[in-house]
Amino acid sequence: MSRSAACAIVGGGVVGASVAYHLAARGVRDVVVFDRAPRAGEGSTGRATGGFRVQFARATEVQLSLLARAKLQRFADEIGGDCGYVAAGYLWIAEGEVQLDTLRTALAVQRANGVDDALEVDAGEIAEINPHLRRASVRGGTYCPSDGFIRPLQILDGYRRAAERLGARFVWDAEVVGFGRARDGSIATLRTTHDKIAVATVVNAAGAWAAHVAALAGFDLPVSPLRRQVAITVPTDALPATMPMTIYTGDGFHVRVRDGRVLLLVPSPGAADPFEVSVEPAWIDLVTRVARARVPCLETVEIDRAACWAGLYEMSPDGRAILGAAPGVPNLYFANGSSGHGVMHAPALGTLLAEIIVDGRATSLDISALQPGRFSDERARDRPELL
Ligand SMILES: Cc1cc2nc3c(=O)[nH]c(=O)nc-3n(C[C@H](O)[C@H](O)[C@H](O)COP(=O)(O)OP(=O)(O)OC[C@H]3O[C@@H](n4cnc5c(N)ncnc54)[C@H](O)[C@@H]3O)c2cc1C
Repeated sequence: MSRSAACAIVGGGVVGASVAYHLAARGVRDVVVFDRAPRAGEGSTGRATGGFRVQFARATEVQLSLLARAKLQRFADEIGGDCGYVAAGYLWIAEGEVQLDTLRTALAVQRANGVDDALEVDAGEIAEINPHLRRASVRGGTYCPSDGFIRPLQILDGYRRAAERLGARFVWDAEVVGFGRARDGSIATLRTTHDKIAVATVVNAAGAWAAHVAALAGFDLPVSPLRRQVAITVPTDALPATMPMTIYTGDGFHVRVRDGRVLLLVPSPGAADPFEVSVEPAWIDLVTRVARARVPCLETVEIDRAACWAGLYEMSPDGRAILGAAPGVPNLYFANGSSGHGVMHAPALGTLLAEIIVDGRATSLDISALQPGRFSDERARDRPELL
């Protein structure tokens, strides 16, 4: 390979692949993606369950989802391949008045930002939308029928192949281990485990490992890993494939069907080692109890313990992406900190970062809330996200 890159992207997950494609589509030649893994999908993207929603509580995230959804709907034409988007809906459940108020406030933000199909639903309507839930504790909720499911690895694969068709290259087994700086503070060279190359621009798309990559460039990036565990049942037809993603607002428990099995999640505190991705047997017991209490037909459905898995969210302090130029390092850009929403937002993040790099600013959306320098500014705090 050549020993220079116009744009070097660190990390070939769904975010790095989307950035690579969108840069190449904007005419940037010589885009090179470096990933330490032997193949695509070894990071968080390959462990994501594939939910897609516009039901967020903050305007910027709603707009990211709308931009991403528009791109997912024309994925086959623009990118080629199948992103797997199925509008099965997302149903948020409130078990009390405070939770319902939280959902109503979020719904108002969604409506104000152009989401016209999300609506409040009462307990009776919830029983029609998802008749499998135990009704006793359901107070009300919100529902958006155009939310649903996507296929993370198919989106990654689509962006990677489309980027390669436009001349971008992906280099696997190439861990980025250092940067050389020019006199003006910009990054002049990138070192991998095999090579040293001259670079004009660098993008950090290293997911849960982004802080480490930023530190190599002398930047303190507040992205930390957070383990998410997933329980999966044995094959079953206890719940239909058409069931919407169903989330309980109070504890974040969610249940969905994928490929003939039921997936169960409930957030848990991080492990002692924040990069740990084992699954705790006690957590499987817990999520199974929660599931059987809320979804009675699961009482006799076994968990396939050997198939349960965990992966890492890439958390930022305010739970939203960090997108744009690194303060103080002229040619370093961040596409980080999506905090568990990186697959669904990847089409938008790639579009926007390409605009920032090529045009000097994002034009598709106002993303001032995502600017990397915001953590030194108390005023940047916004309401917390739903999940
Ligand atoms: C259990 C679970 C469920 C999830 N469900 C959803 C969901 O339903 N919807 C959704 O939108 N998101 C979901 N997410 C979040 C989603 O997986 C992430 O937000 C997304 O995959 C982030 O993509 P990425 O490309 O930034 O990171 P990754 O896919 O992790 O890619 C980062 C890449 O960087 C590489 N790398 C790291 N350090 C270096 C280095 N020094 N040099 C070279 N390469 C390096 C890694 O090998 C990796 O391939 C889920 C996550 C988990 C764990």
